[in-house]
Amino acid sequence: MLTHRRLQLISILSVFLSFATAEARLQLCSPQTQDPEENWRPLGEVPSSKLATQGDLRAIPRELVEERRLVALEMKTLDALFRMANEARKSGIELKVASGYRSREAQQKLIDEKLASGVCPETLYQTVAPAKYSTHPTGRAIDFSPANASFAQTPAYRWLKENAVGFGFKETYPSARLNGIAWEPWHYDFTSP
Ligand SMILES: [Zn+2]
Repeated sequence: MLTHRRLQLISILSVFLSFATAEARLQLCSPQTQDPEENWRPLGEVPSSKLATQGDLRAIPRELVEERRLVALEMKTLDALFRMANEARKSGIELKVASGYRSREAQQKLIDEKLASGVCPETLYQTVAPAKYSTHPTGRAIDFSPANASFAQTPAYRWLKENAVGFGFKETYPSARLNGIAWEPWHYDFTSP
């Protein structure tokens, strides 16, 4: 009898807990009215003709990559990065790359994983482009390390602000943007032909 009542209590408690957890999860994100493309549509989709093919890509020398991971870039972008990193080194600045080429499929996977881990869409789409709008699949986008807001406080960022344009790189999402996309001081695109 006691065992039965205890079991009943446990099952009631677990139902209550699962509701409470679902409720907590719902409260974290606002209702899913967010259109993922809303912030990004004014920038325009990246045309398929600009996507890198396997033949366009080269691996970045590991010493230029955060944790010496394998990262690839489109060839001209890599050349320009190489020249820029050498010049920066003369001023005592070590430029490290956190991320470069990723396919649209990889971008979508990144989005799916972040959403599954509980990141709210309205937060996610401030800094992560929906796959069709991301410039990473062109092979011409670089995220410098650390790829977060703290990058803006680094000497590397201050150096890039002064010098990146001379090497054909442009800060893609500067603080002046007002369309709901957060400032990404770490993200640069190679914009030379
Ligand atoms: Zn980026």
